[in-house]
Amino acid sequence: MQSYPSLFKRFVDLLIPLRCSKCGSIIENKEGLCASCWPLISFITKPYCFCCGLPFDFEIEEGALCGSCSQEKPFYKTARAVFVYTAESKDLILKFKHTDSLHSAPLFASWMVRSVIDLQNPLCLPVPLHWTRLFMRTYNQSALLAQRIATLKEWVYSPSLLIRKRRTPSQGSLSKTERIKNVGHAFKIPEAKKSQLSGKTVLLVDDVFTTGATLNACAKVLLKAGAHEVHALTLGRVVKDH
Ligand SMILES: [Zn+2]
Ligand SMILES: [Zn+2]
Repeated sequence: MQSYPSLFKRFVDLLIPLRCSKCGSIIENKEGLCASCWPLISFITKPYCFCCGLPFDFEIEEGALCGSCSQEKPFYKTARAVFVYTAESKDLILKFKHTDSLHSAPLFASWMVRSVIDLQNPLCLPVPLHWTRLFMRTYNQSALLAQRIATLKEWVYSPSLLIRKRRTPSQGSLSKTERIKNVGHAFKIPEAKKSQLSGKTVLLVDDVFTTGATLNACAKVLLKAGAHEVHALTLGRVVKDH
């Protein structure tokens, strides 16, 4: 016999049908996308660079690095993403970021936990927004994801360990070098919180990996403050030529 909560949930499901997160059409499955939208999203699968998660077009041994990571290793140990950021997947993220598409957070978080590497009780941190931007936007989409991921994996959610001390111009139109410079000194760990980081593994959560400059700047600060290692997890990932 079904319990009351599950019967109640079924009743609610009948009243509020599930919708595709991309086109809004009513769907029967719980995967979040309709059959037409599903093939439009390029989900990232192996092989990819062990460090930055850049997908490779050819088979290569496990643990191999891309040219950029072999040349200069980022501060984060691994970065993983769910799908390639393309014209098709962009609207999923933009809707989530700028409009009231907050109901997508549980779905996106469930996709993200499937992409993350195996970690032992990391602290789950969102890439922070500057308070002025948070004030205008009212929520930090990365924090919503980090919180959900922490709940699903039973990890510790630590939203206030890392703060953005400087408001940086939007990274949108900047080159890779400009992005690195732009976020260079943007983040810090409050002095009183440093002891909480000591020897800990950290999972940094953001919506999009563009060049990795923001995640790298955060990882650098976290390691300097005593973190043992830093990993990154994003929903989308920009892949050149895609
Ligand atoms: Zn759809
Ligand atoms: Zn790489």
